[in-house]
Amino acid sequence: HIYGDERRNSRGMNIHVAADLDPLLNHLAQWSESGWEAAPVIRGEKRREGSPREITAPFDTTRPVGHVYWSTEALSAEALDVAAAGFPGWRDRPVGDRARCLETFADLMESHMEELMAICCREAGKTMQDGIDEVREAVDFCRYYAIQGRARFGDAMALPGPTGESNELYMEGRGVFLCISPWNFPLAIFTGQIMAALVAGNTVIAKPAEQTSLVAGRAFELMLEAGFPPDVIQLLPGDGASIGGKLTPDPRIAGVAFTGSTEVAHVLNRALAQREGAIVPLIAETGGQNAMIVDSSALPEQVVRDVIQSAFASAGQRCSALRVLYIQKDVAERMETLLAGAMQELSVGNPELHSTDVGPVIDDEARSSLQSHLTELDKGARFIASTPLPETCQSGYFVAPSAYGISGINELKREHFGPIVHVVHYTAEKLDEVIDDINSAGYGLTLGIHSRSESTAAYIEQRVKVGNTYVNRNQIGAVVGVQPFGGRGLSGTGPKAGGPHYLLRFATERTRTINT
Ligand code: GLU
Repeated sequence: HIYGDERRNSRGMNIHVAADLDPLLNHLAQWSESGWEAAPVIRGEKRREGSPREITAPFDTTRPVGHVYWSTEALSAEALDVAAAGFPGWRDRPVGDRARCLETFADLMESHMEELMAICCREAGKTMQDGIDEVREAVDFCRYYAIQGRARFGDAMALPGPTGESNELYMEGRGVFLCISPWNFPLAIFTGQIMAALVAGNTVIAKPAEQTSLVAGRAFELMLEAGFPPDVIQLLPGDGASIGGKLTPDPRIAGVAFTGSTEVAHVLNRALAQREGAIVPLIAETGGQNAMIVDSSALPEQVVRDVIQSAFASAGQRCSALRVLYIQKDVAERMETLLAGAMQELSVGNPELHSTDVGPVIDDEARSSLQSHLTELDKGARFIASTPLPETCQSGYFVAPSAYGISGINELKREHFGPIVHVVHYTAEKLDEVIDDINSAGYGLTLGIHSRSESTAAYIEQRVKVGNTYVNRNQIGAVVGVQPFGGRGLSGTGPKAGGPHYLLRFATERTRTINT
């Protein structure tokens, strides 16, 4: 069971056929006037304190999407009291009860798919396809972790021992988990962290990214509707530094699951290390400086398709996205010509149009940081291509998909989280230097390899230190239960979301010995 063989994928949607697209467009139109609301939820009650913040669409800043009430220090404290008191009861519930809540929540998300994807489009600027994939991944996490939970947290494992002694090993929840999720997968990762913690028997305080509280708030309402008890899940939208700063020093926090920047992971790690009392786990999934290596045996058309997908899908705002493309010199010119051609065909703009390939970046801060990186590249790097931005992009936070030639990964001082790919040429005898170059950056999330030589692919795969390697395909879009996802080094603490060992990180193991 631990490999989740009976897993079924969530319902999909093919937006290229009218039968699926038309109902979806009707749904989207239905929400055009209404705004969503999010607020802290403590013991099942929405707490609207202070004045709300207005949220506008990243692709059209004149367009309201909803409003959010941020949490206060007092509410954070209250959430922790409730979650700590709710823990023993939830831990002691049979895992089957807990898993059923995950499955009911999955069903509810599926039946609200259009609404959830509409919020993802409006609030986070997700394209339609990304919005659908987002909901599907969230649903998949629930069903997969429900299966995993039953397999891991059901019966105790009997162990050998001398006659007259019984030995058993079993797993149980740790306590209150703080789940801090990112804006780039505002529903899927929000859901994945929380469900993993819950099915393992923990109670949860969820802190969604500042930029995407609305979709989190709506999903949270569905969690309560699915039957998760109100003292088991608490929601705190608001400022990460102040909520994290308030909660992490408290010894009642038994673990933290975090997806976001490497920098913030360090802050959390330090906060947990400095406090008194129990030593608790930090499960961190952070950034990447992901490379793809393309040798001269690779199929050019396939490479170009996979580079476009890996570097520019979701406007490059995936931890897994391709940042540095290493091409063997002999084929570099041809590949770049094809790549530049393909980039002219991309359509950048309103993510609610199903013809859009690349939507906006998340906010003004992201746009200006990417823009200043492009200005730097313009000064020193070799320009390869960029996708023209249509007029309509002026109303939002758009960045043109761009490709520049650089000398190596270490020219980049940090991760640039957007649709920019950097290209490096190498000669065949320098392959080891390429491998060292990539490893020296210290990240270790995804790696793409394009080669028709199995031995070359295997050689590279064994030497580059990453969590997820993809050979002869794109390097994004890990599927739950199929490509367990997570990296090492500066990219995270290693647990693989959507993998058979993830839940163990949220649990504590116990051995019971009885002299019979
Ligand atoms: N799991 C996602 C993928 O494979 C990336 C997750 C992230 O960006 O945090 O594309």
